[in-house]
Amino acid sequence: KKAGIRDSLSSLYEALSNSSSLAIKFIRSRVERMSDRWIKAGQSMKQNSSDSTEMKVLLYPGALAGKAGQHFEAMVERGGPLGELVQWADLSACLTILGHNLTFSSSQRQLHRLIGAAPGHGGCPIQRPLTFDLIYTDYHGLAHLHGAMGLAFNHYKCRFRILDSFGTEPAFNLASYAQSRGYKTQWGSWGLQPLQYMNMFPHTPDNSFLGFVSEEALRMEPTKESYRKERIAVVYGKQDYMWQGKSEYIQIISEELETHGTVYQSSKQSSILPSFVKNHGLLTQEQFLKLLRRAKVFVGLGFPYEGPAPIEAIALGCVFLQPRFDPPHSSDNNNFYKGKPTTRKISSQHPYAEQFIGEPYVLTVDTTNRTAVREAVKSILNTEVKPFTPREFTCGGMLERVHTYITHQNFCSKSVPTWPLESALKVHLGPLGQSCVSVCQRSSLWCEPALFHHLNTPAAFTRLGLSCSRMVQEVDHLFPSYNPWGRLCGLQQETLLFSCAGSDPSHRRLCPCSAGQVALCPQCI
Ligand code: UDP
Repeated sequence: KKAGIRDSLSSLYEALSNSSSLAIKFIRSRVERMSDRWIKAGQSMKQNSSDSTEMKVLLYPGALAGKAGQHFEAMVERGGPLGELVQWADLSACLTILGHNLTFSSSQRQLHRLIGAAPGHGGCPIQRPLTFDLIYTDYHGLAHLHGAMGLAFNHYKCRFRILDSFGTEPAFNLASYAQSRGYKTQWGSWGLQPLQYMNMFPHTPDNSFLGFVSEEALRMEPTKESYRKERIAVVYGKQDYMWQGKSEYIQIISEELETHGTVYQSSKQSSILPSFVKNHGLLTQEQFLKLLRRAKVFVGLGFPYEGPAPIEAIALGCVFLQPRFDPPHSSDNNNFYKGKPTTRKISSQHPYAEQFIGEPYVLTVDTTNRTAVREAVKSILNTEVKPFTPREFTCGGMLERVHTYITHQNFCSKSVPTWPLESALKVHLGPLGQSCVSVCQRSSLWCEPALFHHLNTPAAFTRLGLSCSRMVQEVDHLFPSYNPWGRLCGLQQETLLFSCAGSDPSHRRLCPCSAGQVALCPQCI
């Protein structure tokens, strides 16, 4: 059966109904608020896209289930993280509009009923065939699925998609390799195809970029009353502790702009916020966006990292002012990233905003340098920026992307990937020490891991003019690559380890770059 574009989200409201969970309520109200935009984007997609097969999909945000769920739930109205909920809301709206058949669950008990083994004779459970074509979950949910499915887990894991905000690089994903090479972390080691991990931002092309939907710049007429900017700064930080040690920085900003906060405040605790800050308390998403619409600048304090709010602020015409991290934060030097399955170096609070959006929308400064902050504030007050939303964060962009993934990504097939097409491939030989992410980026291209198998051959080395004294085939996330000392050519033996992210000072990587943009290359749609 073909999945037809829907013109209503009512089936999703049904799937989300009868829950008293605050998290589910947040998801539901977000979907409702954005429903017109989703429906409109769906209608304009109808004209120019092929239908895909209707999928039976289970959405299981494990972070909302079990013990972790209770904690998450308790924090929703106290300034806890909401980025995951934003993403779950947008994913479910997107799949509904695309015409798929959704089941939404955030209960471990229900998960067992839906996919668990049935009790058999003599206490020996009988595995039932999995009735879902796709299961979207997260790292917590993976562990629950593992518990519920038993041996069938391995058989069906190719149907899983993992919402993983910060990314999982291949070296951390393969348990045996991670163990022997020192990449073992709290989260990795599930041995999935790296593209099964879906990130909040395009962190590494080894994973799929799922994203979310921001406010849309186009909806606002600059002449409208609602758009007029006031001399207001909104500080990004829902909890007290995020403001610690930042008063001097905030002080400088407040010399020029009226400074507002949206910090959750319990009645018990006295606040550490400077007295000149107008605190609204934690706002509903709608109120928060209204406040951003009036503001001139959104001020990053350094935490939370890589969240959705700065993208919303920029879409509503704010400049995002944020701290530069020098040295960059990473799992080596930072508690938040410690144990996360990535080697990424975080150069500012929001590297995506810094690198993919940049000036004049995003100013990244050393916030301990008073002069630098003053100058940034001055330049913000002197520049008029228009609301801006990158295409990948619009409803249309996300519909297109998710539709493409559902149509083309098949991790259950044993054959080599046939998508994207080889015609998209541009082979680049990187300099020593550079990952394929940066090699491709430097040529305004994008590393496409599904194309690695085309250059994992002796002929690929020859075509690049490399003469190898020796050709080896090994399990190593840096391969295929060339080591100039000894002219050693290395082929990859384990396809799960094809890695855009891997880099090493003694290796020149062979990189599968492809023409295109962040979200999808034109040939890939
Ligand atoms: N948000 C909100 N009320 C507030 C501040 C933020 O509803 O007072 C919303 C905001 O619109 C964004 C979401 O919270 O979509 C997540 O924001 P953030 O970037 O802070 O990410 P997090 O750290 O919560 O994952």
